[in-house]
Amino acid sequence: MLRSFLRAIALIVILHGTTTKATTFDITFIGTPPDAQANAAVEHAADIWAGILVSDVPIKVRVAWFPLGAGTLGITFPNGRKDFISAPVAATWYATALANSITGSELNPGENDIDVFLNNDEINIDWYTGLDGNPGGGQHDLVSVALHELGHGLGFVGLAKKIGTEGSLGL
Ligand SMILES: [Zn+2]
Repeated sequence: MLRSFLRAIALIVILHGTTTKATTFDITFIGTPPDAQANAAVEHAADIWAGILVSDVPIKVRVAWFPLGAGTLGITFPNGRKDFISAPVAATWYATALANSITGSELNPGENDIDVFLNNDEINIDWYTGLDGNPGGGQHDLVSVALHELGHGLGFVGLAKKIGTEGSLGL
């Protein structure tokens, strides 16, 4: 009795000690990262999302380190799909990663689901690339920023704009 109880406890410990990913991110990096840790910090952010999201289809991300000047940390474009088979709502754009997840198949072979641009302008941006969420004064925590940018790529995005005196929603 005690032995089977201990075996059950051991199994629970093993299960809780194992990190199971609910989905997979395939990230391609281009450009020059600000330091040797930077891409690992972006991968760490993707791993956090991967532990939360459930999708059978790997999420393809291209991360480009690019000089974006002062005042911009990153920009992200979620590529979109609409009117795919089994789309829940007609004539409605879905972030591609979400559309792929809904259909359970890759709707866009050869295309990124998410394009992320991160600023490698070292004069204007002081990145903290550690994984412990502990940036110094004036530093920007790359894991946090990458979490935010990947969120846009997954569909957490606003598409409102204003040109002159006319506002619009959508594309
Ligand atoms: Zn944002």
